[in-house]
Amino acid sequence: MSKLIDMHFHLDFYPNHSQIYSDINKWCQHTLCVTNQPEIFEACMDLYPVTKYVQFGLGYNPRCVNDVPFNKNAFLRNLKRAKYIGEVGLDFSSKFYKNKEKQIEIFDFICEKSVNKIMSVHCKKAEETLYEILNHHKNSKVVLHWYSGDEFWIEKFLELDVYFSVNANMVNSDKGMKIIKRIPIESLLIESDGPFTKIDGKKYTFDKLNRVYGLLGDLLNMSLEKINSQIAENFIRLVGK
Ligand SMILES: [Zn+2]
Repeated sequence: MSKLIDMHFHLDFYPNHSQIYSDINKWCQHTLCVTNQPEIFEACMDLYPVTKYVQFGLGYNPRCVNDVPFNKNAFLRNLKRAKYIGEVGLDFSSKFYKNKEKQIEIFDFICEKSVNKIMSVHCKKAEETLYEILNHHKNSKVVLHWYSGDEFWIEKFLELDVYFSVNANMVNSDKGMKIIKRIPIESLLIESDGPFTKIDGKKYTFDKLNRVYGLLGDLLNMSLEKINSQIAENFIRLVGK
């Protein structure tokens, strides 16, 4: 059976991250550990060797924009050793809307610098602007994480050959299910977004990744084996683009 892949996980949000890091390696789960600030990426890379299974994403989460300035120097000095970028993106929901222009400036800069890197992208109420920026820089390996926008924009993002990583919370909501069913199976990836999702009513832990695959398989009428191999195939295609 294929090894499981988690396209978006916040390792540094778990107090026992060191234990989880070693367990993920033992379990052979390919995991993209995104970070919310370049300085955190730097700290993770200094603390943990990158392995076949654990990778870190160089990120700046737009939801940090009200509190933490984007450290451009830290981003640039880490760019070379970053194979993955994330969590990055735009969030125009009410709490972050006042810093919309600043977010655009930062995300545009990040996209310009990350054209050929795999990106895990957050998008809330910002589909049009996000589309324009990705299209402008021709970012070729974009994964939209936990997409929650209009279905119209799914089609537009698919024109850019964007992938979508979906999680257990989406499988458990009507809107999420509708979105998942609109995405072609070849464009789907799976994420936990731990610790910000729930699985069977409890905060997500890394040992439940199999369960996320099972839930998605049930929704799409695919066996666990079939969903595993489909996601693995999609991931390999993304990496090879
Ligand atoms: Zn996240």
